[in-house]
Amino acid sequence: MTSAAVISRPPVARRLNVSFEFFPPKSEKLEEQLWAAVAKLEPLDPTFVSVTYGAGGSTRDRTHRTVSRLIAETRLKPAAHLTTVAAARGEVDDVLRTYWEAGVRHIVALRGDPPGGLAETFTPHPDGYRNATELVAAARRVAPFEVSVGVYPEKHPESPSLAHDLDVLKAKIDAGATRGISQFFFEAETFLRFRDAAAAAGVAIPISPGIMPVTNFNGIVKMASACGAAVPAWLARMFDGLDDDPETRRLVAAAVTAELCARLAAEGVEDFHFYTLNRADLTLAICRILGVRPRPAGETA
Ligand code: FAD
Repeated sequence: MTSAAVISRPPVARRLNVSFEFFPPKSEKLEEQLWAAVAKLEPLDPTFVSVTYGAGGSTRDRTHRTVSRLIAETRLKPAAHLTTVAAARGEVDDVLRTYWEAGVRHIVALRGDPPGGLAETFTPHPDGYRNATELVAAARRVAPFEVSVGVYPEKHPESPSLAHDLDVLKAKIDAGATRGISQFFFEAETFLRFRDAAAAAGVAIPISPGIMPVTNFNGIVKMASACGAAVPAWLARMFDGLDDDPETRRLVAAAVTAELCARLAAEGVEDFHFYTLNRADLTLAICRILGVRPRPAGETA
């Protein structure tokens, strides 16, 4: 069977669950782009949509505004990302309380990165939470939030081993984490190996693979090197020579990403988290290939 045949029809009869990640826009034009993407993706009835928190808490107000607007104007269930960076414990707890009062029921709890990236050593705020585990516990102390946490199929760059990462994940679950969302990756086996190792270690919460449709290959290489994700040579070859051809890059991106998702689905993965980069078209196309459509009126999840 060729790989094209794998993705030419929905890989499984069951309906897959999807979630979408957005970032808070910082200009009017980007604002329009975000809300257009939200309008296009909402009918797919995602399990949740998450809104990122800029490095060092730089988007605190914009994240809050975006999440509040999702609650006010859509039927979507927003998850607010929150980090420990540059904030005292009391400030973080206030943010958590404000979210709960605004109707937010899901937090993506992350430690965050040092201001200069992972080349620097992370130093917690003197009165702050030291890691995501402590932030998960804080969220659960403030209110009965659903709490998602980051997981790293290729190991977190600071971690000595995958086994240590799994211990940390188990500590986050003991603190109240209810879901894992993975860093992006490009080989299905990378995620499947991690999923199986997590299950063998006794991790029982759902773990969604983080799916990054690549259109700007050079941008992805930079992001991948910052977060320790491997970029395979075959992917580089596919994008080689396409720097000035965005249309072909998008077609390649759709095909590669749909095939990755189809392979994961064929191995039993049921939840997919898309890094949309605030654009709907590729995510929508991939969801359709996977058989995720608007639900018929009256049908619920
Ligand atoms: P942690 O789980 O705290 O891990 C960080 C380090 O601390 C690891 O080396 C770990 O081994 C150690 N550690 C943690 N808990 C313990 C413990 N109990 N005992 C011993 N050691 C421990 N960053 C942002 O700034 N904004 C975002 O919106 C954002 N969204 C993200 C979404 C996803 C899905 C992912 C995967 C990452 C995201 N990030 C975001 C990046 C994230 O902040 C970085 O990857 C950061 O370097 C680590 O965050 P963490 O929550 O995994 O940290």
